[in-house]
Amino acid sequence: SGKIQMKTPLVEMDGDEMTRIIWQQIKDILLNPYIELKTEYYDLGLQKRDETNDQITVDAAEATKKYGVAVKCATITPNAQRVEEYNLKQMWKSPNGTIRAILDGTVFRSPIIVKNIKPFVKTWDKPITIARHAYGDVYRDVEMRIKAKGKAELIFTAEDGETYKEVIHQFAGPGVLLGMHNLDKSIESFARACFNYALDSKQDLWFATKDTISKKYDHTFKDIFQEVFEQEYQEKFAAAGIEYFYTLIDDAVARIIRSSGGMIWACKNYDGDVMSDMVATAFGSLAMMTSVLVSPEGFYEYEAAHGTVTRHYYQHLKGQETSTNPVATVFAWTGALRKRGELDQLPKLMEFAERLEKATLTAIEEGIMTKDLATLAEGEKQVVNTRQFLEEIKVRLSKTL
Ligand code: NAD
Repeated sequence: SGKIQMKTPLVEMDGDEMTRIIWQQIKDILLNPYIELKTEYYDLGLQKRDETNDQITVDAAEATKKYGVAVKCATITPNAQRVEEYNLKQMWKSPNGTIRAILDGTVFRSPIIVKNIKPFVKTWDKPITIARHAYGDVYRDVEMRIKAKGKAELIFTAEDGETYKEVIHQFAGPGVLLGMHNLDKSIESFARACFNYALDSKQDLWFATKDTISKKYDHTFKDIFQEVFEQEYQEKFAAAGIEYFYTLIDDAVARIIRSSGGMIWACKNYDGDVMSDMVATAFGSLAMMTSVLVSPEGFYEYEAAHGTVTRHYYQHLKGQETSTNPVATVFAWTGALRKRGELDQLPKLMEFAERLEKATLTAIEEGIMTKDLATLAEGEKQVVNTRQFLEEIKVRLSKTL
């Protein structure tokens, strides 16, 4: 056939609700007609996870280690209400958390930019990518509510029995206390994932902590990044014409706001949590954010940053057409296909990914968009449902092939 051929299969992780419907539509309308799609399919839909006692999620993560590149649909992270709704055996953990732990990966989130949607920050004309450290700090802390007078101490007992002690505070009355930790190994992995991704995408890397106040904890993050950079990346960065820039977190925030974008901003766990929502909101819409999990060994898992769009799914079940935005999911596929093309040296596959992205952006820039973008976009616009939008992309894609 005249279809584009692949070599290595992509690990395909299907998901839940509205995004599962969109997943199939993207394959039917935009991928299968042009590509002899080779995937190893894992159904991470909640029902299948329950049937397999979540083994399917582990298998999908292991397959990603085997093949190198995965594309994932949004999935439900069960809560008490979902346990009832799906009659689950137990409250399974977040698939993203499970996959991230197995791949020891860092998540990079970037906005998809179109000309007719202006970011809230006027100067941001290039994407700002947030890299969030996904281990430790306040997310694995131990906390105490102090109710009485007394002394709080930080004690470390080494394996040989030696102890190290610091007084935290002499409490004269009620208060609060927390203990948190991180690991050199995890910080090093995070640093390498960030430096590799910066080289991969030819963008500067920024990193910031509060090392002037946190002289051991945050300072260790700063030192490890600097050491890894000097020992492994300095020359490669110079050759690629990109920079590693470290500054204090408050200075970074001020500079980012006044910048024109185009950098990767590595954030400690909590900073990344906060800043990724700020960046997503300022660029316009969660439906236009892509996300890629990169492991230090160079495994990639591409997905949309948003969830399963539950409200639209219930409308869909009632037989109503919905205008759900498929752009981030389309870009998860193009990201994965491009990376597969790069690794297998398939220029046609890479070019297809490029053209599909271009066709998607062109449709929006010509005013054809889903409902969520209509309030954000400037100029003439025509709101269409998801299927019509994918067909409009297809029209523009076909013209370029
Ligand atoms: P959500 O991202 O599905 O929706 C949040 C809000 O943004 C809603 O108002 C929704 O209508 C809107 N929205 C998001 N994506 C959109 C799109 N593509 N088009 C139009 N509007 C869009 O998040 P939620 O409602 O908090 O969670 C729904 C489900 O998704 C939950 O079960 C949650 O566990 C899951 N979830 C999964 C992931 C993931 O797999 N990565 C991430 C977040 C949430």
